[in-house]
Parts: sequence; structure tokens; C-alpha cells
Amino acid sequence: MKILPYNGKTAKIMKQSYINILLNTLMFDVLFPAFCSNCGKMISNVNNGLCNNCYDYLNLSVYNYNSQYLFNVEEKIHGKRYWYIDDILLVFKYRNEVSKLIYAMKFKNNKSIALLFANFLLQGIKSLAWDFDIITYIPVSKKRLWERGFNQSELMARYVGKMLHKNVFNLITIKNENNTQKKLSQNDRFISTYLKFDILSNCTNIRNKSVLIVDDVYTTGATINECARILKMNGAKSVYASILAYAMLKDREI
Ligand SMILES: [Zn+2]
Repeated sequence: MKILPYNGKTAKIMKQSYINILLNTLMFDVLFPAFCSNCGKMISNVNNGLCNNCYDYLNLSVYNYNSQYLFNVEEKIHGKRYWYIDDILLVFKYRNEVSKLIYAMKFKNNKSIALLFANFLLQGIKSLAWDFDIITYIPVSKKRLWERGFNQSELMARYVGKMLHKNVFNLITIKNENNTQKKLSQNDRFISTYLKFDILSNCTNIRNKSVLIVDDVYTTGATINECARILKMNGAKSVYASILAYAMLKDREI
């Protein structure tokens, strides 16, 4: 890249290009207006899907829980269990704005929300200083993928991978596509999750690799722990999990 000396001419060029960017953004906003995914207010396209107020509110509700907090709480609820996850990050509580935005990302095909969430995940991941080699995500069933057109966890994983310059691989597959967990009780969920997933037969070699899993919502933890178990059974050295929202017990459907 050619670096221009900072003189009057450079200042003029910079000013012109700044005006051009501003004009282009304004033009784009007029032609393709964007709306805040939370409150519906009209916003600029450079705003990442939220108005400044909603963004500030969301930013203030970051918790960044890690395993020290979560494992204790979960074991009080579900009893002692073996954790295959080395450390975990849960950015938000699954409430109000966050659940509304996750809904918009999943069902209204709002990809700018996935990018916004990936940025929050990224901040948390950086603060924990994990040493991992590759990134993966929790798969969704073929039926869901067909209905929604994309897997929201994969999308967030790909954004995070891009920002951290790490490769993102599909490593896990769903073995039994027929059971939908929503209708099951919490206990049955645990049982049905066991043996639900498998390692993808032709996936990249994960032996001695450290893997980061990205997912959207933690409910019982059965899914993420089972996926971590499968990764470790197939040679992964360590498994970290970064999940956007934590559905606390009283908010769950039991
Ligand atoms: Zn808003």
C-alpha cells in the first residue's frame, strides 16, 4: 500500500473520500432503509442491525459467565456430572431483548444479528484467552436447515472464525433426526441427547487439536457436553464452548 505524506493534498483526498463514503451510505440508507431488529426504529445500514439505544442496552446485559460459575450452578440443579468441556463462555442470559434477537436471527433470516452476536462472542472469547486450533458448531437437523435455509450457530461460528483467522469445520452430525427435543421433558432430553450425535465420517483430523464449539442457546447443557464428548472420543485434546445465551432454570420450560 502506498502511504501518502500527510500534507494539504492528502488531507483533501481524505476529506473527499470521507464525503464519498458518507454520501454512499446515505444513498444506500435511502434506497434500502434498515430497521432496528429490537425496537423497529429506522437506522443506518452501518449500525449492525440495532439502533444505538438497543445496542447500549444489549452491551450492558453482557454477563460472560465461565465454567467456574456454570458448572457449580448446573450441578446443584442436575447433580454431579462429567464435563467434557474444558471451559465455557455464556455471554447473555436468555431473556427479553436477547431472546427476541435470537428469534429474529433464526426465523426471520436476519444475518446482521448473527454478525452482531459474533462480535459479542468474540469479545468474551478474547477475554478468556483460550488456546484453540479450530472452530466448529452444533449441527441442526436437515429438516430445520431446509426450513430456515441456514444454521445460525454455523453462521456465528464462521463470522468468529473470520475475525480470529481460524478455520471453521463441520465436525458433528445428527444420527437420529426423528426426535424433536422441545416436546420432551428435561430428563428425557438428557437421555435422548446421548447417542444423538456422531463425528462426521469425512471430517478434518482433530487428533490432538483444541476445538472451540459455537452455539446459540444453552438449556440443559446436554447437547454441548455430548458434542464435546464425541470430539474428545475422536482425539480432541481440549474442547471449549462459546454460547450466546444461558436459559436460567426459572426461564426454562420444564
Ligand atoms: Zn432499537
